[in-house]
Amino acid sequence: MMRDRMNTSVFDLRRSAIREFARLAKETPGCISLTLGEPDFDTPRPVIEQAKLSLDNHETHYIENNGLRELRESIAAYETKAHGFTCDQSQVIVTAGATEALFTALMGIINPGDEVIIPTPAFVLYEEIIKLCRGIPVHLDTSKSSFQICGKQLEGLITDRTKAIVLNTPNNPTGTILNSESLEAVHQAALKNDLFVICDDVYRQLIYTDGYHSFTEFTDVRDRTILVQSFSKPYAMTGWRMGYLIADAQIKERLELIHQFSVVSTPAPFQKAAITALDFDPVELKETYARRRAYMLKRLNDMGLDVPEPQGAFYMFPSIARFGMDSATFCRRMISEAGLAATPGFCFGSDDHIRLTYCYSDSQLKEGLDRLEKFIGMLHISDRG
Ligand code: PMP
Repeated sequence: MMRDRMNTSVFDLRRSAIREFARLAKETPGCISLTLGEPDFDTPRPVIEQAKLSLDNHETHYIENNGLRELRESIAAYETKAHGFTCDQSQVIVTAGATEALFTALMGIINPGDEVIIPTPAFVLYEEIIKLCRGIPVHLDTSKSSFQICGKQLEGLITDRTKAIVLNTPNNPTGTILNSESLEAVHQAALKNDLFVICDDVYRQLIYTDGYHSFTEFTDVRDRTILVQSFSKPYAMTGWRMGYLIADAQIKERLELIHQFSVVSTPAPFQKAAITALDFDPVELKETYARRRAYMLKRLNDMGLDVPEPQGAFYMFPSIARFGMDSATFCRRMISEAGLAATPGFCFGSDDHIRLTYCYSDSQLKEGLDRLEKFIGMLHISDRG
């Protein structure tokens, strides 16, 4: 069998349960889906107009591998001005979404058997990429510490094979932002053990409270900090596949070869459109999500569900521990018995939770939460019966 001769690490990869439950929802007539992390807004008009103009101007040929210099300059200026992350265009690689940025960063630093710490619950992608690179994902369970990173716990996981830690703040699936103690714990560990810190900050423009800090603010660990960013979420550009990474010049000089030999460059007609996107203030998106967040949080609290108050992104992660079922069973039953789809927590490393997404229309949210309330009511009745 030729299949047996494939790279064995491809057999360790798991299919995304997020997609699977979204598909189940689609196949179930009348089912409401609160599964996908996909903005329900259109890409801003000026961004689309710029892409059309670029096409009309025949900007359709090979460009610099790392992205148009003008775009890299805009990204560096944006990061410096908006987020205080002083950097230069020579440190930027424009990637096919944050996904490619994560892949390039992890591929570039993992040797076989290297361990990478993932504060969990976490987005599914990290673990799969790490396995593909023949690294070992090491989970740091944050569920007992309000989804924050405990310094002692982190220290206990570090071995002489630890190479990196992946930070995601605001977090998918909990919406939590890391507090200063968490960031400082990682800062100390990174200094002491020469760890790379990959900062997946793709939701940093969607924050609803004060007090956000990114790990990129630590200036004494810039040599080991790799920032991963995306145009997908703040500008509703998930299908454009545009993102970037920013790393120390010496690290980036090697990472760009992985990008060059796999992707070459992101699409030429989207380069100037991405510059236009950086000028766009996603205030309307943010206000809408803030309103929906307040609504969903109130509904979940009224239902008596234990849910961490999300400070960013567009997810909520209520506990289902008291229903005595694993998260996949809960989600399957909820689809068939109540016509509502959520994503089971197991695919983020926490089987006691489900993830609900609030980037859906107000009416879908209302109907979805009504169905959740009914479903939970049914479970309570059957518990008693
Ligand atoms: N990181 C996180 C935390 C995400 O939630 C996502 C997308 N859901 C990504 C990275 C990948 O985003 P992109 O569309 O830019 O590849």
